[in-house]
Amino acid sequence: MKRLLPLLLAWALLCGCGADQPASSQGPAAGDTQYFFAMDTLMSITAYDGDTAAALVAAQQEINRLEALWSRTRPESDVSRLNAHAGDGTAVPIQPETAGLLETAAAAARESGLAFDPVLAPVMDAWGFGLTESEATAVHRVPGQEELSALLPLTRDLPQAAALEDGSYAAALPLAGQAVDLGGIAKGASAAYVVQALTAHGVENAILSLGGNITALGSRPDGQPFRVLVTDPLDSEESYLCTIALGGGLTCSTSGGYERYFTSGGAAYHHIIDPATGYPAQSGLLSVTTVAAGPALADAWSTALFVLGLDRALELWRAGEGTVAGMELILVTEDQRIYVTQGLEEGLQLHGEEAGYTYEIVRR
Ligand code: ADP
Ligand code: MG
Repeated sequence: MKRLLPLLLAWALLCGCGADQPASSQGPAAGDTQYFFAMDTLMSITAYDGDTAAALVAAQQEINRLEALWSRTRPESDVSRLNAHAGDGTAVPIQPETAGLLETAAAAARESGLAFDPVLAPVMDAWGFGLTESEATAVHRVPGQEELSALLPLTRDLPQAAALEDGSYAAALPLAGQAVDLGGIAKGASAAYVVQALTAHGVENAILSLGGNITALGSRPDGQPFRVLVTDPLDSEESYLCTIALGGGLTCSTSGGYERYFTSGGAAYHHIIDPATGYPAQSGLLSVTTVAAGPALADAWSTALFVLGLDRALELWRAGEGTVAGMELILVTEDQRIYVTQGLEEGLQLHGEEAGYTYEIVRR
């Protein structure tokens, strides 16, 4: 519930309507909203035009279909079957969607110098962040250095996916004990399929919230861009840092250590792991928000930049080329400085000053 409340509150504002007046009861002018639980998180989709009822059914079906392919907990999923054959030389048949996602994940991994690592599963499991996704049943623990050192060699070699002659796809993991975990990219990647399903039913204006990833199609019914609240990582249940304007199919994705963590011996351990050490990333950042045209990339890079830290993130953004250079960023440091890149300045509203945050617009 800890993670659901802010989402619901944010949703009320996103839709421009009070929480006591759900959008779905107001007819298409206010949008039709579908809430559901998938990929271990609360999701919601509001469609403002087209055949909203059919569109929302189709959108949710797409998410369910993709979860059945990408889940680590369902034995029949592409990911589970790939993991089950790690290192045994089997080319495991996978769906084209999975091949595409593995390719996108591998590209983000290479470009980020493996700060984004799609084969971190053995390390995630050692911390108890792995297979039992539900907070209620997860058994978290702090693994020893020896245990982590033995696992790290399994997290370097990316899965190999290939198109076969008959047009189907197969993939393999080179080392025994390896396992894919797409938790840092799958929800974002799903957004692209949801958008396709919506547009196929005539939807041109919609907003989707897929667990920390918000995609805005078109604009609000009043013609204004959608407004997205960015959570205060120091008070994630109550407060917001800022509001940004979002539209035109862009996706906003936030990663932060506050999203999922446990405490042991007085220390907090969160779920974004630095693949270089096997420990929760300690880059000096509290959260990273990316805004990008590609939802899978927004998702992967919010995780990657959280690992890489402020200086490297801004360096990549300032570089004339590369994936991050084409994004906008909100970087929040442990000493409460917020860096917002210039493309987000228009429509930016600040809310965190009373809580002690300072803001800086970063320009090229
Ligand atoms: P969330 O899924 O909680 O919204 P993220 O998008 O940042 O947040 O993804 C975090 C998830 O990604 C973790 O739960 C784990 O499954 C996976 N993960 C953790 N660290 C990394 C990493 N360095 N690279 C890729 N995936 C990671
Ligand atoms: Mg992510």
